[in-house]
Amino acid sequence: MSHPKKSPKKPPKQGGPKRSDNTAAKSAKPAAQPGPANQHRDDFWNIRLLTAQEALEKGNFICHIVSDLAEARKLVLETIIPSHQPESASWGGSMTFKESGLVEAIKGLGTIKVLDTYDTSLPNEQRLEMRRQALLVDMFFTGSNAVTEDGALVNLDMIGNRVGALAFGPKKVVVLAGRNKVVAGLDEAMFRIKEYAAPANAMKLNKKTPCLKTSHCQDCSSEDRICNTWVINEKSWPKARIEVILINQDLGL
Ligand code: SF4
Repeated sequence: MSHPKKSPKKPPKQGGPKRSDNTAAKSAKPAAQPGPANQHRDDFWNIRLLTAQEALEKGNFICHIVSDLAEARKLVLETIIPSHQPESASWGGSMTFKESGLVEAIKGLGTIKVLDTYDTSLPNEQRLEMRRQALLVDMFFTGSNAVTEDGALVNLDMIGNRVGALAFGPKKVVVLAGRNKVVAGLDEAMFRIKEYAAPANAMKLNKKTPCLKTSHCQDCSSEDRICNTWVINEKSWPKARIEVILINQDLGL
């Protein structure tokens, strides 16, 4: 498949969020305009998103910038899925992906075999086996714990199915990441994950870990520890295997 054209190299001096120069973004319906009170915040993040986009594209990722989650969903349903026509799909734990409504939308297409490894009606062993099978789907969706401005995806997993898919397996990986995941570099990414995302995630999942009490990582040895495997994607191999959608909204943890 063709790689999208490069985005503008220089950030805009003013105005609303700029998108990557790709067909889907051009055809996407304009997002609801933020109120003037928040425009400066969107402008601030737009510059950082453009920096990350440029670096990611240099690293052979495909990268889009969209204004909000609705636009990300539209991009997936109207451009990414039709252009790849996956026969199977699955996803890793991602609040942003879940919130996008894409789980229901993809199931509703009726043309894709969906491996819902988060179906709580299934026994744990079956879901774990499905997560192994999900490493061989055509299209895998996930979020990212952090995206660096120098163009890397940084993730930390409990089980490893999500970071496993980012490293190898699915033919295509689509990453949805809110602007709050964008950080300067690897040190900040790891700090963000261990000092914020992981403790907050442990709280969300009601794990029996010390960070629930302190809100700081204690580098625990708990059986419930959710911090077991790091994966850093510095480049996408093969080129364009990983497609990142940066969203100019605060999303997920
Ligand atoms: S290592 Fe343990 S204490 Fe630290 S964030 Fe992860 S689960 Fe919490």
